[in-house]
Amino acid sequence: MTDCIFCKIAAKQIPSRTIFEDDDLIAFHDINPAAPVHFLIVPKQHVSTLADCDERHAALLSKMLLLATRLANEQGCGYIAGSDGDGSGGFKTQFNTGPDGGQEVYHLHLHVIGGPRPWRGQR
Ligand code: 5GP
Ligand code: ZN
Repeated sequence: MTDCIFCKIAAKQIPSRTIFEDDDLIAFHDINPAAPVHFLIVPKQHVSTLADCDERHAALLSKMLLLATRLANEQGCGYIAGSDGDGSGGFKTQFNTGPDGGQEVYHLHLHVIGGPRPWRGQR
């Protein structure tokens, strides 16, 4: 899409602090981070929202979620699988969908938010 900011980032027409890229996905730091670690995982192919996804996007969505864990580890907010809440670490994964979901950029993206927990004590 010509006027889509994340399509432009994927096409390198707009710079970003990229932390991962392959044929399907690009991940980069959010320009306005909500926490010490805040990056976005974005498909290179334009899809507007999670609600526009169907079974054909199942592999892509799965890949995005699994990449979130790997990149959270690399960015220093990983969680040790199997520790069941003992110890520290961890991160939030969030898709905002539509106006009431707080979506501002209408190109599918997964927020990964972590680091020390400014939201601790909140829900
Ligand atoms: P949404 O509210 O659509 O789920 O989130 C969009 C996110 O994209 C916001 O957190 C916003 O800070 C981020 N964002 C918007 N424009 C840019 C940009 O040009 N570069 C980067 N790196 N992040 C952006
Ligand atoms: Zn796009």
